[in-house]
Amino acid sequence: MKFLLQKIALLISILIAASLHSGCGLFHHHGDNYYTYDWTAADSTASVENDIQTEDQSDTEEQLSYQLSHAIINDIVSTSLDVSFDWKKQHMNGKATIVFKPHFYPTDSLTLDAKGFDIHKLELISPAGNKLLNYVYDSSQLHIFLDRKYSSAEQYSLLIEYTAKPNERTTAGSSAITDAKGLYFINPLGEDKNKPTELWTQGETESNSAWFPTIDKPNMKTLIDISMTVDTQFTTISNGVMISSADNKNGTRTDHWKLDRPIAPYLVMMGAGNWKITHDTWKGMPVDYYLEPEYSPYAKDIFGRTPEMIDYYSTILGVPYPWGIFKQVVVRDFVSGAMENVSAVVHFDALNRTHREIIDGNMDDIICHELFHHWFGDLVTCESWSNIPLNESFATFGEVMWNEYKYGKDAGDHQHLNDLNSYLLAGSENPVDLIRFYYADKEDMFDVNSYQRGGCVLYMLRAYVGDDAFYKALNVYLTQNKFKTVEIHNLRLAFEEVTGQDLNWFFNEYFLSSGLPVVNISYNYSDGSNAQFVTIEQTQTIDEKNPAFTLPVDVDLYFGNEVKHYRVMMNQPKQTFTFPAYSKPDLVNVDASKSILWQVNDNKSDSEYVFQYLHAPLYMDRYEAIKNFQNEQDLDENSRLALIASLNDKYWSLRKDAINALALDDEKTIADAKPLLINLVKTDPKPQVRTAALKKLATLNDKDLVNELASITEHDSSYSVLATTINALKDVNPDRAYQLALSLKNENTSSLLNVIAGTLASKGNDSDFSWFENKLNTADGYELFSLITKMKDYLVNCGSSVRRKGIDLLATIATSNKASWICMSAEGDLKQVKDSLESKEDPALADDIAYIQHKLDEVHDQMK
Ligand SMILES: [Zn+2]
Repeated sequence: MKFLLQKIALLISILIAASLHSGCGLFHHHGDNYYTYDWTAADSTASVENDIQTEDQSDTEEQLSYQLSHAIINDIVSTSLDVSFDWKKQHMNGKATIVFKPHFYPTDSLTLDAKGFDIHKLELISPAGNKLLNYVYDSSQLHIFLDRKYSSAEQYSLLIEYTAKPNERTTAGSSAITDAKGLYFINPLGEDKNKPTELWTQGETESNSAWFPTIDKPNMKTLIDISMTVDTQFTTISNGVMISSADNKNGTRTDHWKLDRPIAPYLVMMGAGNWKITHDTWKGMPVDYYLEPEYSPYAKDIFGRTPEMIDYYSTILGVPYPWGIFKQVVVRDFVSGAMENVSAVVHFDALNRTHREIIDGNMDDIICHELFHHWFGDLVTCESWSNIPLNESFATFGEVMWNEYKYGKDAGDHQHLNDLNSYLLAGSENPVDLIRFYYADKEDMFDVNSYQRGGCVLYMLRAYVGDDAFYKALNVYLTQNKFKTVEIHNLRLAFEEVTGQDLNWFFNEYFLSSGLPVVNISYNYSDGSNAQFVTIEQTQTIDEKNPAFTLPVDVDLYFGNEVKHYRVMMNQPKQTFTFPAYSKPDLVNVDASKSILWQVNDNKSDSEYVFQYLHAPLYMDRYEAIKNFQNEQDLDENSRLALIASLNDKYWSLRKDAINALALDDEKTIADAKPLLINLVKTDPKPQVRTAALKKLATLNDKDLVNELASITEHDSSYSVLATTINALKDVNPDRAYQLALSLKNENTSSLLNVIAGTLASKGNDSDFSWFENKLNTADGYELFSLITKMKDYLVNCGSSVRRKGIDLLATIATSNKASWICMSAEGDLKQVKDSLESKEDPALADDIAYIQHKLDEVHDQMK
């Protein structure tokens, strides 16, 4: 599963607005969403604050209870579901035929998870005629009394007829369950004209038992087949392949989906909607993309690298993609970023992008994350939520692997740095074990530790054992445990089998412990001793409970073009290592593989960083150097020159970092850097770099330069470059900014919405009212929120007759929008328009001010 949040600043502002209105109930995530993502690709690292916590997080291990893995009494062999839907009531009618067998000990009872059902019939299937069975149902679990004791050599089958009512479930305190419904009906009656009608499911962690009876635990595996009866207009999707599709001649159709390999219940999925399927293949295997018809023409733009990803992962793991078919669907209002249901991945609607929008960045990271789960999570599944890093750390590391394979080592390392930074930013403050057997809520396991920190630990493990051993060990782990469930020791044993080494220390310190090393590195060279001394001191809290970390440290010594490689093992709080050096090295590069998960204070000199930038091989070497140049450019001439040189780094993100690091505040630097920056705006292949360079040059407030650049950039294919062009022109040539915004106002993208709305609003032309009207009538969510904010400025600047119409529009939104936070912001904006008009002290505005007050009174009356 992948959690994503977009537009963080906006989100936070909305949260603030929403918090003014208690009980707003808008932001129900799993309580665990933490993600960092190259969102618009315009600004690389958007860090996301953890969900605003309302509960005290001071729980300690002592207060939390040990989370046992589920004890298996009965195994599920297969699950067959026959389902149909009542869209009006948002109910699902289900008939489940499930085959069980006792796991080891004989048993005469069975407990199933079945959340919020009406049970109509529960029978034991028998050739001599079905038998009704006694059961006790508490609306959460079904306790079933079998007709006799069964041994593990026997199977028995149950038939359960039921109605699932996912919207009517309540928690103990009787509030509606909004984030674990399992089955979601979207716009079920088609009342929202701007949203398709569809349904989809989300199982992880234990929500699928809200729509079918099962043993809803990750250490359970079942075969699955689902017959879905839907109106003929709908396309269906589920696990496996569609083995039949029958027209029922009554306006409905029954599609039968079947997967012939066992999966955990949380990975079962079904969906129905108006999706158009685009077919692709990998080695003859179907690879299908389900999209709303509007986005179907861009299916290959959105998903087109999928077959190459399947091929890459199959090859490097030595385990071919194991499920026979791969499908992906983009749905509306998804509760997460994406979910790795076996062979039927669900994505949230941020993947609805046009060809042109994808120029600014594709969504391959999320696509490859879910795909990699098809080995780590789907084929080999964590036996308990305590072991979820065995799913999520791998899926996160799978993103690093894909970037490295597809775009080169720099791109993989860039992805790794994003993971490291997200963890350091938010996860290191409240240290927890990676594999956690103590937690309050299983949803808490889906955090920056299980994803990003775990990804970094795998990166470090790969560097320690070497690439060949690493991928061989993964092959052994996957092969030995396929279609089974695992805990962390299965992974260790595979690595030990392959490397022949005892790796308890690594797994104990990095998977089964909390915290991270914080180190100070200092250097000393003395001529007489012909030795280079390197002292590393671990400065984190070290005591009996928290011993010093064991650190395998690669150290490279550079003498001109000659490099000497060493690896030392650090296992004390403070250690000094001695390396032969007959002259003073130009650079001592500690952690030369840049793979250790630690926080470093490195006391290198400016000249060593310059040398490092020019000679050391890795992305991180150059990244660290650029960070140092940023701080030293005013103090050290060589750092300043090196920073200017790094504007032409071979990797795009470092060019962007160099641009952002550059201080354009003295004549010399302006003279040196300006031609390079202009060249980047004109010729760089990456829109992120063109955007950054244009932004930087715009800070010079040089009207002629901006106008000259705009002549080129206003024809750019990238929306982010266009948006930056409008913003750059706004200050120096507002008329031209307005004309450019006008020329782009019919583009089919939300990327330009903000900048166009802002530009039209500051101009206040009456003729632009219809644009605002149209957008306000079709947008929702964050987009609508942001449009309302811009509309406020427009209504202050436009003429009186249009102003009245706009006020009516905002008043209608304030009283009729379904989302209370949107209503509130529309009402708040009306007040602000009134305040702005009043502050002008213009008697001609008196009537309009009175009109707004009149509308506000109406809004107020209606809200009562
Ligand atoms: Zn995931």
